[in-house]
Amino acid sequence: MALTKEFKEFYKDRDADYPHWPKRVFTIAVFCKENFSPKSIPSYVEKDMGLPLEEVNKMNISSGVFYAYTDKEVRSRKIKEVSRYARGNCRQCTDFTGDFSDISVGSVGTQAGWSTVILRSKEAKDLFKKLVDQDLIEVSTNVQMEELNKVIDLNNKQAKKSIKLSQDKGFKLPFVDLEKDDNLEGFVEKGHKKDFMDLEKEILQSGLCVACGTCALACPCYNIEMLEDGRPYSIRGCLPNCGCCYMACPRTHSFKEILLKDQEEPEIVAARAKNPSYHSQDGGVITALITYGLKNDIFSKAIVARADSKWRAYPFITNDPSFLKRAAGSKYSIIPQVYGLKFGR
Ligand code: SF4
Ligand code: SF4
Ligand code: SF4
Repeated sequence: MALTKEFKEFYKDRDADYPHWPKRVFTIAVFCKENFSPKSIPSYVEKDMGLPLEEVNKMNISSGVFYAYTDKEVRSRKIKEVSRYARGNCRQCTDFTGDFSDISVGSVGTQAGWSTVILRSKEAKDLFKKLVDQDLIEVSTNVQMEELNKVIDLNNKQAKKSIKLSQDKGFKLPFVDLEKDDNLEGFVEKGHKKDFMDLEKEILQSGLCVACGTCALACPCYNIEMLEDGRPYSIRGCLPNCGCCYMACPRTHSFKEILLKDQEEPEIVAARAKNPSYHSQDGGVITALITYGLKNDIFSKAIVARADSKWRAYPFITNDPSFLKRAAGSKYSIIPQVYGLKFGR
């Protein structure tokens, strides 16, 4: 959602009304090297691991192992086995640590029960300090940077190999080509000539869509809906000279000069919440940060991911910190998180 920064640049000279677009979006990313289609992990847990989904109350990946928990037991599988079900387009992702976000959190680089935390913006550092000062988060400098850098390097190597393979097969990869030879003005000029059909052809059909829902939120005439499998679809014809969906899509471009505008020298620490909830991922740091931000009016609302009893995940927007406990923990499914803004303002 750092994307909002870019989108405002595209639209600064246009007389358009975007009621869903907030003034500032504070982003917290989790370290990520792959994700899954909405039905993959629920079906795997139910059929291969033999656990009724209604009884599963937590899923987690730690040190190369996938865990599913019920009140009675914990079952596990090697991550290699689960990775067979990962979405193909994640193979071309070079953003393991969510480099455009205010804060990134993940378990690589720290011991069990702790998280590696990367603080990039001034607001992120201020917020984190408040939690440490108030004894809500315990902090340490014990981050294994070698381990973290090794995983980042390996991920980047694999992604570049996959990008090359796609290019060799003749696929056009707009986000790669644009990084090389386009600038913001050129992109906006071209972007206004594009419409949903171009997004469909270049991003959806080539398998690059990450189901974030940004295109659906960006459409000024509410022309795009999201299907249950995470695909956006257009319900009517497009406005002339629009291209908002194309320009807002993170897979058509990446303008680092805009996305990195508010960032400072990153601070990297190990941290864990003092009282993490059972559902929280290692350390409970993300839940602690959002809870504090909402309670103290630093955030007006938060978009989090929730799952129903069948582990179907969906974006959920709230200003009530008590909802966060129920939303804590990873869902291992693509979720149109940005689209969630449409329902909450
Ligand atoms: S594309 Fe998104 S879900 Fe896939 S690996 Fe990258 S950050 Fe994770
Ligand atoms: S009208 Fe909506 S779907 Fe069509 S080009 Fe504009 S943003 Fe895209
Ligand atoms: S904006 Fe997100 S959901 Fe829409 S096409 Fe691009 S990647 Fe897919």
